[in-house]
Amino acid sequence: MSQCPCPLCERLFDPEQSPALPFCSIRCRLADLNRWLKEGYGLPYESPEEDEERPAPPEED
Ligand SMILES: [Zn+2]
Repeated sequence: MSQCPCPLCERLFDPEQSPALPFCSIRCRLADLNRWLKEGYGLPYESPEEDEERPAPPEED
């Protein structure tokens, strides 16, 4: 079994057990997304390219 550190909380987790790679959990993924969006608000709005990536459906643990 190999473990890797979550980029957000730095906790070691098993990638095979995570529904929210590269994060350890959906909670961390959402937290990182929120942080990213907040930082994005400081920038002038621009949409250089369309991103069709959809968020995964919500899951309970
Ligand atoms: Zn985490």
